[in-house]
Amino acid sequence: MGLEEKLQALERIYALYAQYTSKLPVACRKYCAHCCTCNVTMTSLEAINIFQSLSENERSVLRGTLTPQLGNKRYLPEITLNRMASLCANGEDPPEEAIDPNWGRCPLLEHMACPIYGVRPFGCRCLLSTRDCGETGYAVIDDYTVTVNYVFSQFIEHLDQNGVTGNLTDVLLSIDTAEGANTRLANPTAPGCHLIDNQPIPMLLIPPEHQKKIIPTVNALHSIITAS
Ligand code: SF4
Ligand code: SF4
Repeated sequence: MGLEEKLQALERIYALYAQYTSKLPVACRKYCAHCCTCNVTMTSLEAINIFQSLSENERSVLRGTLTPQLGNKRYLPEITLNRMASLCANGEDPPEEAIDPNWGRCPLLEHMACPIYGVRPFGCRCLLSTRDCGETGYAVIDDYTVTVNYVFSQFIEHLDQNGVTGNLTDVLLSIDTAEGANTRLANPTAPGCHLIDNQPIPMLLIPPEHQKKIIPTVNALHSIITAS
């Protein structure tokens, strides 16, 4: 699958997820942004999707906003979800990782709204809560939706298996926006950026109690990533 086909598949995956969440009783609404922290992660394919929606000037503003963030604390994943699935399949423990919502807000957040809402990565789309996080202090999400979120994330990583994953800041700054590069390539050597290689799905992280219910969703995701 070429880049354009992958981007189209990504759009279809986002649409499938929107179809699922449209039936959920969520408290999420515009200008509610307690979940918009500096710890959101994304894939390089999603970063390319964002850059392709921006003008040259908007790309430049985005880089200017994000570059100072490289000096700040933020979640820097050590392994991807599909790597974690490999470890689970082999009975190995994933590494312990530091993450704290108090490290700060997402650097892109403007006046409690997302300036890239229409193209936000899956890591943002799956931040949902059935209760207002401003009241509870944390998100409330049912176990089945957690499983659905894992499965969608695994398929998105699989779709971008030659790409990378990392913190939103690191991945967006790794996209080569030099004149002529047309945002096509991730630059794993971008100074200060911590990136990890994506992997194909080794097995899906689905607990036994959800395996029957999730079959139609898995089949739909599979047909999206295998369509030519
Ligand atoms: S996850 Fe919580 S903070 Fe984020 S939009 Fe939903 S209710 Fe608001
Ligand atoms: S990219 Fe947008 S939706 Fe995602 S955390 Fe940042 S402001 Fe929130």
